[in-house]
Amino acid sequence: MAAAWQDVVRDAAAVREAAAVAVDAALLAGVLMRTGEQPNASDVVNYAPFTLLPSAVPRALFEQAYAVQQDFNLLVDAVSQNKEFLEQTLASTIKVDDFTARLFRIYVQVLEEGLAQTVFLGINRSDYMFDCGLDGTAALRQIEINTIAASFGGLTSRTADVHRLVLKVLGKTEEASRLLPNNPAKGLALGIAKAWELYGSQRAVVMFLVEEVQRNIFDQRCVENELWNRNIRVVRKRFRDVFEQGSLDASRRLYMDGQEVAVVYYREGYVPQVYDQQCWEARLLLERSRAVKCPDIATQLAGTKKVQQELSRPGTLERLLPGHPEAIARIRATFAGLYSLDEGEEGDRIAATAIADPDRFVLKPQREGGGNNLYGEELREVLQKIKDSPERTSYILMDKIKPQPALNYLLRAHSPLQVSECISELGIFGVYVRQGRELVLNQAAGHLLRTKATEHADGGVAAGVAVLDTPYLV
Ligand code: ADP
Ligand code: MG
Repeated sequence: MAAAWQDVVRDAAAVREAAAVAVDAALLAGVLMRTGEQPNASDVVNYAPFTLLPSAVPRALFEQAYAVQQDFNLLVDAVSQNKEFLEQTLASTIKVDDFTARLFRIYVQVLEEGLAQTVFLGINRSDYMFDCGLDGTAALRQIEINTIAASFGGLTSRTADVHRLVLKVLGKTEEASRLLPNNPAKGLALGIAKAWELYGSQRAVVMFLVEEVQRNIFDQRCVENELWNRNIRVVRKRFRDVFEQGSLDASRRLYMDGQEVAVVYYREGYVPQVYDQQCWEARLLLERSRAVKCPDIATQLAGTKKVQQELSRPGTLERLLPGHPEAIARIRATFAGLYSLDEGEEGDRIAATAIADPDRFVLKPQREGGGNNLYGEELREVLQKIKDSPERTSYILMDKIKPQPALNYLLRAHSPLQVSECISELGIFGVYVRQGRELVLNQAAGHLLRTKATEHADGGVAAGVAVLDTPYLV
């Protein structure tokens, strides 16, 4: 699959011409980001980074990823409702990881008070790489599932058009016509709208909980505008605003300065650094409220790396999804090797194996957002240092996935046009809505392909490493 565009990828003149067209097409299509210099103003914007060429993706693996998405929705929802499982699974982690511990405390507190929320909305993105076996065949392997603030569903709704044009400029009209339509923005908005409707108050708004620094605002605007198209009001607020303006009435309806909020869609709140005392208080207020949180705190915990690792233990899926053997088989087929570093013999053994052969593994802390994992020599050093301390239980180990690289150009503002050896990560967006115990919506909502140069082990688009891409099925 590496050689989809072999005839053009080294043709410097053709590449230069296509790149100029591509950048203008991206600007016209709204594949935009604010700049690092002015992250909170739209006076000067730039195109979001993207590949010049769509990347080859094996059709069978692409279809497999779509086919398992409803199963993953079901699984995440089941984990979020299983207090015993979350408690057992996170017990060792919360002893050493302060952030997970604080989230867990809020989770327990709102359960003890009794949930006011009756409608639940999940928007997740399950990410995969294509692991290349010794015989050259590729297998779909899940990297992680993001249950909070999964981004780029908006911008990626517009990248296929750009790549279609690029292929035409390169004389590949037939191939251009084969790029799939993709509109996660619409799919995510459908879920939010359904939750808003079931909440049942015409006057209430959808609140996007956004970051202080909002470089990726256009990605969110794509979803916001889909909601406005449905005549649903959207407001954008930060934790700080919630702290200052938020209140609950006697039935724990959430108000922001007198305006009722039906749905809180978090695009913030997944990294410890943002939480000062006021933010924690704001978070607690939101979680206690009747508003539909996307995600509620239980679903955020369901997305931790520790939960992912425990899900791969024999018997766990059967316990969480009784009566769903086919879903379980589809889910399990995507798992890479995952290993607990809990104290005890099992953890000792895998820690020793990883120290001896670090290139086989990735060491992951309980963090989101890219750039946190450890590889190679660094993995060895850190694990060597913490192997006899309880601190090691704040990490998990995972088999390293080794995809087959392909050549492409990563188009980034102010960067030279040069060919890179690249690997891709496919994400499938999932949306579901539950009312009480009944799942009323469960769908795959579109896909996201991100591509990065192989010189970077880690990091997403927002972290400045990966760029947006479009799958070209082969
Ligand atoms: P985060 O929550 O920070 O996004 P991820 O688990 O998605 O954490 O890891 C971040 C990045 O690290 C991924 O996008 C991928 O590029 C790389 N990565 C993660 N796990 C693996 C793995 N098992 N094998 C190879 N690369 C990995
Ligand atoms: Mg990730």
